[in-house]
Amino acid sequence: MRNCPVCNVPLEPEAYEGLRILRCPQCQGHLLERARLEAIRRIPEKSLAELEAEAQAGFQGDNPQGLRCPRCHRAMDKRPLAVPGFNLHVDVCCACSLAWLDGGELALAQLAHQGSPKFRDTREQMRRAAARDADPARKAAFDAAVAKLPETPNPVVAGAGAAFCDAILQIVFGVLRPTRL
Ligand SMILES: [Zn+2]
Ligand SMILES: [Zn+2]
Repeated sequence: MRNCPVCNVPLEPEAYEGLRILRCPQCQGHLLERARLEAIRRIPEKSLAELEAEAQAGFQGDNPQGLRCPRCHRAMDKRPLAVPGFNLHVDVCCACSLAWLDGGELALAQLAHQGSPKFRDTREQMRRAAARDADPARKAAFDAAVAKLPETPNPVVAGAGAAFCDAILQIVFGVLRPTRL
């Protein structure tokens, strides 16, 4: 039994993109093995709509407080989470190889990965396009956002991060923009 490092209530097992991870029923944060974090970012099983709903429902902003590892109770380290335009962090325990993501951050990380030019070139993106086509308004908004994305390999560099961030924000939050840090 592991407790949430934020709420101190028992975490619940959840199958996320086919991988078993732990989720807090209160704050919707996720605890997972560090090695699985990158894998989950790249797994395209969840639809864009599902990820959007998850990000909107769970995201309360990055938790600035220091957390303790749910397993060994040592202080966790904060590491940047690659979501351009957002100042997000993953809390990691190096001893246990565990990572904690605040509510909605896992979905945001996946959305950011999907918005990257590299992802757009993959077959998985083609499958997602089929799902988006079912909603013409959403598809038009997504296409417009993607059209504004820079063509640089890494949108974080070359000052292109802002455009990428705007696109992601538009996709995820519509007019409900979170406070940028
Ligand atoms: Zn919690
Ligand atoms: Zn630990």
